[in-house]
Amino acid sequence: MSAQRDPRSAGGAGASENDSVTMEKIVALCKRRGFIFPSSEIYGGVGSTYDYGHYGVLLKSNVKNEWWRAMLQQRDDIVALDSAILQHPKVWEASGHLAGFTDPLVDCRTCGQRFRADHLGDLACGRKPSKHPGQTEECDLTAARDFNLMFETTIGPVKESGATAYLRPETAQGIFINFKNVLQFSRKKPPFGIAQVGKSFRNEITPGNFIFRTREFEQMEMEFFVPPEDVERWFEHWLQARFDWYVELGIRPDHLRLRAHETDELSHYSSATSDVEYLFPIGWSELEGIANRGDFDLTQHAKHSGEKLEYFDQATGERYVPKVIEPAAGADRATLAFLVDAYDEEIVGGEGEGAGDRRTVLRLHPRLAPVKAAVLPLVRKDGQPELAREVHAALRSVCQSEYDEGGSIGRRYRRQDEIGTPFCVTIDHESLQDRTVTLRDRDSLAQERLPIDRLPGELAARLSAAWRSPKLPPAE
Ligand code: ATP
Repeated sequence: MSAQRDPRSAGGAGASENDSVTMEKIVALCKRRGFIFPSSEIYGGVGSTYDYGHYGVLLKSNVKNEWWRAMLQQRDDIVALDSAILQHPKVWEASGHLAGFTDPLVDCRTCGQRFRADHLGDLACGRKPSKHPGQTEECDLTAARDFNLMFETTIGPVKESGATAYLRPETAQGIFINFKNVLQFSRKKPPFGIAQVGKSFRNEITPGNFIFRTREFEQMEMEFFVPPEDVERWFEHWLQARFDWYVELGIRPDHLRLRAHETDELSHYSSATSDVEYLFPIGWSELEGIANRGDFDLTQHAKHSGEKLEYFDQATGERYVPKVIEPAAGADRATLAFLVDAYDEEIVGGEGEGAGDRRTVLRLHPRLAPVKAAVLPLVRKDGQPELAREVHAALRSVCQSEYDEGGSIGRRYRRQDEIGTPFCVTIDHESLQDRTVTLRDRDSLAQERLPIDRLPGELAARLSAAWRSPKLPPAE
């Protein structure tokens, strides 16, 4: 699906005016419904690390699966990789991370806290009433100094004689150091890409905003190697493709924009970068960066390792170092954006189910929803649970289905609304007589009667159909 208008001009002030969503509501819902918990909570927690519960795992893995689908299943020019988190320390020397992967840090001698010097305006001071660091006369900030974000560890059992190693701060370098392997075994030639999903670690000075910025997070990165003369064309291609990916998965286009980096924002390896930004409750913030990395990484690794990292075209006799376009996304940040964009509260209208009640509903794209169908017997007797379990077993062959017989039907519907289940299947006394069930739609609350035999096929078709967020105005 294409963006509905030029993404570079999309978005705008006030786009979230009608949203009831706040970060606090998302955090509360994630805890209440078992998506995401603060980590190590029984020991008082450890700053800005989170554990994903059942629905969180399902949601985030659907996000990652959609990314893989777009990279692998829908294209012929990308292959997968899963490289190690611990790599040779020279990798980080060559990549420039050892010398340059730093953020500016200031200490406050008054409150004893540390802050990212370039984010002071957004941060709260360590003393109450909360003000920005440096704002009052009592604040006594040191000069900014560079702080390297890589986590250091030691390889080998003896700390003193072991080799210093680093937890990878990005998955990308694992791709560059495997360039030769992939080229040899994948029978690909530029333009082609290598994609990877995995954990990265950054000792962020000021993590925060729930899973937006944490010290341990998952990235979805792809390095696309192209002939040097085609680099601009591919940069434009990936800007549009990555913008469209979010839109196709239901993010409202007016909450999404592409923003080109100013020259002084560019990373050491990049000649051009644009961010896909989402209008979070904290304001427009980066979801994904698309960078023109040129031949920086391959050249650096060739220099430091002594290996030739280039492409030799046997047909033309041409030899060159490919240039690289990198779309680098965060699986946790994307998950947060999908949660925020899906969150809705409404007073149920009409005269049917729950009329007049306030409900909270996650209007997630059905492909992202953790559970696709919930099978609910109206009562816990008269053979209804047995039939419901039979239906649940049949649905399992086509999708993630959940069986729930506990509590009133209204409460069970609300629970499924809050985890974003697009379809509820209700078994009642009629079902036992004519083997039909009620199929309830999460967004419209419409209910229809369907024969049990048709249900798996019908759900499979609905789950793979095109979808448009009901939070958007009706299409013209
Ligand atoms: P930021 O400016 O927010 O620190 P970045 O530009 O350093 O991010 P990249 O190095 O481009 O980020 O990483 C690619 C993606 O990885 C980001 O767009 C984001 O989605 C994700 N990411 C980076 N750092 C974090 C983090 N600390 N927590 C969660 N996700 C992150």
